[in-house]
Amino acid sequence: MFAAFDEHAGAILDEQIAICEIPAPTHQEQARADYVHRQLAALGLQVQRDEVGNVIARHPDPSPNPIVLSAHLDTVFGPDQPVGVARPGQPNPYRSGEIVPEREYHAPGISDAAAGLAAMLAVARVLSASDAQSHMLYLATVGEEGRGDLRGARQFCNAPLGRSARAFITIDHSDPAAIVHSGIGSRRYNVRYRSSGGHSWAHFGRYNPAFALAAASDRLADIRVPRSPRTTYNIGVVQGGETVNAIPELAQMDIDLRSESPAELDRLDADVQEIIQRGHEKELRRRGAGALDPVVTQIGDRPAGTTPTDSALVLAACAAVEAEDLRPRLIAASTDANAAIAAGIPAIAMCWGGRSDNQHSVREWFDPTDRSRSLRVIARTLLDLAESAAG
Ligand SMILES: [Zn+2]
Repeated sequence: MFAAFDEHAGAILDEQIAICEIPAPTHQEQARADYVHRQLAALGLQVQRDEVGNVIARHPDPSPNPIVLSAHLDTVFGPDQPVGVARPGQPNPYRSGEIVPEREYHAPGISDAAAGLAAMLAVARVLSASDAQSHMLYLATVGEEGRGDLRGARQFCNAPLGRSARAFITIDHSDPAAIVHSGIGSRRYNVRYRSSGGHSWAHFGRYNPAFALAAASDRLADIRVPRSPRTTYNIGVVQGGETVNAIPELAQMDIDLRSESPAELDRLDADVQEIIQRGHEKELRRRGAGALDPVVTQIGDRPAGTTPTDSALVLAACAAVEAEDLRPRLIAASTDANAAIAAGIPAIAMCWGGRSDNQHSVREWFDPTDRSRSLRVIARTLLDLAESAAG
């Protein structure tokens, strides 16, 4: 059964290229979803779309408590980004003056997640010949990348069908030995300090949002976070003011908080919220006139969580990696699996196979060498889970 992955290697690559060349910016995944929908329907599966645009495919006579295999539809690139795939030996439009090396395929999104979708479809085709297919649910999600904030996976995992899932596997990384069993949680905020503004000389003494932001950011930099569970914070964007001799009407920053642990993320978040207010209050005490309340807007919220290393899902995945003579590595990342773990579904992320790098950049590339190995790892994991579900 697994021989099909090698026999159809050319077709799998062609499909990956076709998928990559259908642009799918976050919130504009429709055309690519149509393609995936057609392919799954052609396997005799019953395919539906939910209210956010996820593609959901099941056996016409499905077993309860499905095993979910998923990949995300969207890319980080905008609608104007060319996504034509440059093949080996061709001039590389994404690196001027270079020729694409042998075995490599270059295009934004060629791996993340065109390789994930191609892997999901390849596994779905192979399993259509097996009893396991009735246990499977194939899912192509919208809104995984940055601005999407996992909206597709959240929608699915919190609906009754998702809640009934016994396991959730998303295909969304490049390391054949790695199993992502831990979801890095993140929260992101836009913080706006505001005042009526004024002239730097004539209105000196009014509330200055730049000083409030500076006071807060200085305290933020002093927050102590644990190394394990790994927890981090960042001010990624600082903006504000019009000119050197005016009190700014606005000073704003974007803050990113992350942790492997939900409790640590909550603790960090509480500290940060207090510090944001303290920065405001400090400037208020110094210069109160013209002050407006700060506005804090959440611009991202990905749940943290872990699927236990001794769960049936992680054990099955580790055994499947070992069957390919690789030593499994359990790691943390931020993928659609976060949403599943947060909804109480055992979830991991697995590898799309081959070799690839520079995801989220126009210099992204993919080499299909050894892709079959990772497809076997996925298929073996699913068969193992389906067998224990049937037995
Ligand atoms: Zn991805």
